[in-house]
Amino acid sequence: MRGDPAKAVPRIAKEIGAGSVHITADCAPYGRRRDEAVEKALGGIELVRSGSPYAVTPGRVRKADGTPFKVFTPFRNAWLDHGWRKPADTDKSTLDWMEPAHSTKIPTIKQKLPDALALWEKFRDERLPDYDSTRDRPDLDATSRLSAFLKFGVLHPRTLLQDCDGTFRSELAWREFYADVLWHRPETARENYDRKFDRMKHDNDEELFEAWKQGRTGYPIVDAGMRQLLREGFMHNRVRMIAASFLIKDLHLPWWWGARHFMRHLVDGDIASNQHNWQWVAGCGTDAAPFFRVFNPLTQAKKFDPDGAYVRRYAPDSLDIPPIVDHAVERKIALDRYQAIR
Ligand code: FAD
Repeated sequence: MRGDPAKAVPRIAKEIGAGSVHITADCAPYGRRRDEAVEKALGGIELVRSGSPYAVTPGRVRKADGTPFKVFTPFRNAWLDHGWRKPADTDKSTLDWMEPAHSTKIPTIKQKLPDALALWEKFRDERLPDYDSTRDRPDLDATSRLSAFLKFGVLHPRTLLQDCDGTFRSELAWREFYADVLWHRPETARENYDRKFDRMKHDNDEELFEAWKQGRTGYPIVDAGMRQLLREGFMHNRVRMIAASFLIKDLHLPWWWGARHFMRHLVDGDIASNQHNWQWVAGCGTDAAPFFRVFNPLTQAKKFDPDGAYVRRYAPDSLDIPPIVDHAVERKIALDRYQAIR
């Protein structure tokens, strides 16, 4: 169904005489507000929030004194100690699905579920053994590409976690960490986690912003990433970091401009993972990269796209575009501005 959930959900619940309405808990600020509105509108019909799309529901893993974790590694250790139930072995073919009367022709999860599971199993058997050494290479097809399925709850992280360890498990832990951070600090969807960055000086050059969005900066790895985003609604993680760093430290634009563009185009666009990865790059997040560690887009490209295959795939013409800024000059400006707020 389409429409305002606070109207549509009660309508169908009454239509079919539902005794209760069961939803997957949403832990992000908009989802929490929306579900509260639905709960209120349902009146006497109970709204039951079941399992979140996380191994451990955000807000549950805490320090011994009850406060939230601010650093990733201790969070991950406590998260592992907390543990989670093994996913139930359900035979999906026996689930009884109803055809909603008001449905538009949106492909349903029912059709997508087996695909996602098969993708995971193929990745697990063929690529996961090399994940540690290849995951930073955008020119190789080395990561799972499961982020959108995780985002929409098509695959549950517990399904993946029972079959993996090491770096891949840690990546899933980052997803849980950021959801937890946003749960405790919902305002960080928009605001700097580290408030000293409120004093950081930003530029607001719309033309430079447009060049970045279109993948026309003259820095081939940035351009390839930005065009992959427009073409596929996806960008490799290493390139997300390089492109985000370029917006923040070479163009001196506010991280939330870039984050908004990512949210608009990413199929895996997720408010917790997106905003907090942006804040990680910008140095203003929790347990973020230190601001003074500035990505050099040329050396990054040499290291992670050594044969230029990724650039040739997405932005072969970028090599002919004159760079819109001089990285060495902008790096210095960024560091000076950082010095001023320290
Ligand atoms: P894999 O390498 O196969 O990793 C497996 C899973 O682990 C991913 O599907 C994802 O759920 C999780 N994961 C991996 N890295 C991270 C990370 N750094 N933070 C949180 N979770 C992670 N991820 C999103 O799901 N949604 C976003 O909106 C998003 N925005 C990002 C913005 C920036 C600026 C950066 C630097 C990263 C962002 N990420 C985001 C994290 C990461 O880039 C993607 O999760 C990853 O590229 C998805 O590809 P994959 O499924 O092949 O990853």
